[in-house]
Amino acid sequence: MAFLNIAKASTFTLNEGTQALEAVGRRVYKFGFGVSPFAPPAPVREALGSAAGRVEYTAVAGLPQLRENIAAFHQEVDGYAIDAGQVLVAPGTKPLLNNIMRVFQPAEVYLPRPSWISYGPQARLAGHDVVRIPTTFEGRWRLSPEALEQAVARRPSNGRQKLLVLNYPGNPDGLTYSPSELDALSQVLRRHEFWVVADEIYALLDHRGRHCSLASVYPARTLVTTGMSKWCGAGGWRLGALILPPDAPSALFDALVGLASESYSCAPAPIQVAALRAYELDEQLYAFLAAQRRILGAVGAAVHAALHACGVRAHAPQGGFYLLLDFSPFAGALAAQGIIDDRQLCDRLLADAGVALLPGNAFGMPPECYTARLAYVDFDGDAALRDVNQIEANVTDHAAKMLEGIDALGEWLRQLNSSR
Ligand code: PMP
Repeated sequence: MAFLNIAKASTFTLNEGTQALEAVGRRVYKFGFGVSPFAPPAPVREALGSAAGRVEYTAVAGLPQLRENIAAFHQEVDGYAIDAGQVLVAPGTKPLLNNIMRVFQPAEVYLPRPSWISYGPQARLAGHDVVRIPTTFEGRWRLSPEALEQAVARRPSNGRQKLLVLNYPGNPDGLTYSPSELDALSQVLRRHEFWVVADEIYALLDHRGRHCSLASVYPARTLVTTGMSKWCGAGGWRLGALILPPDAPSALFDALVGLASESYSCAPAPIQVAALRAYELDEQLYAFLAAQRRILGAVGAAVHAALHACGVRAHAPQGGFYLLLDFSPFAGALAAQGIIDDRQLCDRLLADAGVALLPGNAFGMPPECYTARLAYVDFDGDAALRDVNQIEANVTDHAAKMLEGIDALGEWLRQLNSSR
């Protein structure tokens, strides 16, 4: 008997592993799992609470009013015209991304290295070849137009649709693209008629509130994915949304709806009702978004500075809640201890120092590069929100446990260097 060969996503494996360590009383610094530290706003939680009676299946594409709200919301915050007919609601962005991969047939999927863990497996499950495009620390892990052009040139021309997935602010890197960088990339995209999945799930958590949607730069073939998991702190509620291009072929929309109808049916009705409230743009919501950005900006800067002091290379984060750590300055010392790749590095850090990081290899990085992702979400989001006006002054208190974890990491690195 044979079954599909697919491993559990490493984020879940690590999360379950750290829970097991905590269950036996170990202190674990949880930098592994990227869940928002903030709860959904009270009116949104109340809306969910009163929607328990909504037991119906909704339309596959979502409640018409929710599609309206999401279109109006993103039109306002992203500054380009969106019609409700372009919006598709789903139980999370992950199944949406999976279905997008599947409706492009035949296709080849271009992924910058590093990029989020699930794109590669989803592309392979859809039967596509994956083309990894290298980036560098010096180039801020950005996909450059030249690298994209070279990746295309190296592929035989095979008539397959080219699909690029671009995620910014980025998981695992915490970095974004400027409008001029997007503009330069769009020229290559246009030349080769790429379709692009712009995974903008962290857009509202751009620390300076300056996210520029790829759909406003490359409107004809950009599919924007977003949802409530990150900016609304509601990952487990499972609500994602897709914004299709205004002139997308109806066959694309129909294929996505068809696939949805044969797989997940629709997003849960009560969650869609809560989302109706979440996607109502009012002063309270703007204030909630601004507070999250300010807090994540302050915490990210403090965590980055502490890492820098330990000799770990990383770029200061610009959005979301991740940093991609580069331990290559320790490569010699690590190899001398028999630690030959990023997985062994993360295993040892967890076992010796209680520091839970995810190996860069999960994001497509070569294992011998010794990279790892750090999520800086292990703090009390409610307490930080209450203290938002003094957050910069008090950040070391709010981020105390994470800073202690970075101290533990620094101590481990010092011992590593001294044992050479
Ligand atoms: N894209 C990125 C870049 C993510 O980080 C995540 C969540 N970790 C997702 C998509 C999936 O989000 P959802 O909870 O909406 O399925």
